[in-house]
Amino acid sequence: MVSVDDIRKVFRGHIAVAEPLGKYTSFRIGGPADFYLEPFDKFDLIEVVRFFKKFDYRFMIIGKGSNLLISDIGFRGAAINLEEGMGKVILESDIVVADAGVRLSKFVDFCIQHEKKGVEMLAGIPGTIGGAVIMNAGAYGGEISDHLVEVEIYRDDAIQKVKKAEAGFSYRRSGFARDVILNASFKLPQGNLAELLQRRRELLLKRNQSQPLNLPNSGSMFKNPEGAFAAKLVEDAGLKGKQIGGAQISERHGNFIVNHGTATAQDVLDLVKLARKKVFERSGIKLELEVKLIGFQEEEIIQAVA
Ligand SMILES: Cc1cc2nc3c(=O)[nH]c(=O)nc-3n(C[C@H](O)[C@H](O)[C@H](O)COP(=O)(O)OP(=O)(O)OC[C@H]3O[C@@H](n4cnc5c(N)ncnc54)[C@H](O)[C@@H]3O)c2cc1C
Repeated sequence: MVSVDDIRKVFRGHIAVAEPLGKYTSFRIGGPADFYLEPFDKFDLIEVVRFFKKFDYRFMIIGKGSNLLISDIGFRGAAINLEEGMGKVILESDIVVADAGVRLSKFVDFCIQHEKKGVEMLAGIPGTIGGAVIMNAGAYGGEISDHLVEVEIYRDDAIQKVKKAEAGFSYRRSGFARDVILNASFKLPQGNLAELLQRRRELLLKRNQSQPLNLPNSGSMFKNPEGAFAAKLVEDAGLKGKQIGGAQISERHGNFIVNHGTATAQDVLDLVKLARKKVFERSGIKLELEVKLIGFQEEEIIQAVA
């Protein structure tokens, strides 16, 4: 076990104890983390990660929490949020370099203002650069990896730069699951300001029309299986609008679960299990979770994803 005093010896940023994590997630669900940390900068982050690894103490990086379902009992370990200390995006000659804690909306805005094109489709995704690189986030035919040059990570006790070709990107996956993302660099083609602003506006409008953005949610719960749409499969299984406790499969979008204000992580997990069961019975397709489960018992996870 580590204590606040132990952490303080190596860490300069903000520390909170027994911090409820729900407020850091787009679902607004989740119990407390034993420790919640906001590093002062990249080096502060590395020092504390090195410390946790040395003592074999569990930690996780939390971006905007927009792809997470955190259990009702929370996370036994330290949750590290990079938004405060690692939120810079800069242009270095013609390369855009964004820290892991930069919000995607800010990143897209920066690129558009510098007339760099190819990332407009990320504007409405409520995540950070770190979370988006880990998930290879994407929308409307594009992915964050499209124009990515390299990613700076902390791995094997060293800062390393990984070129795109070695990054293991595929649909909603990267090879960084065990690493800490520090920043990412992008080389983007030149665009026209008015056209880029227009494209972002159109895509945001499209998103607003199709997604239930008025209630807390975690985006798409399931990955789209090869050649099919998870939303359609859930809808065809007759589950649109199905409610358990305070959680409901959205009436508007079959792949979204929304929180009516009182949803627990268990309510959401029960809906996930039900959707997987019904879709499998009807179509023989096993839906794979896109949202990451944090702080659940091993058996609960196995039941939800098997
Ligand atoms: C309304 C809504 C719409 C969405 N639309 C889309 C969409 O169109 N396309 C899409 O792909 N996704 C979408 N998402 C899902 C989500 O926004 C993306 O997956 C996003 O990239 C997650 O980023 P995050 O910063 O919130 O990561 P989090 O949810 O905080 O974390 C996700 C994972 O990444 C890890 N992680 C985060 N930062 C780091 C880091 N620096 N180093 C190491 N690990 C890290 C976390 O530990 C966790 O395992 C949507 C979500 C919502 C709520």
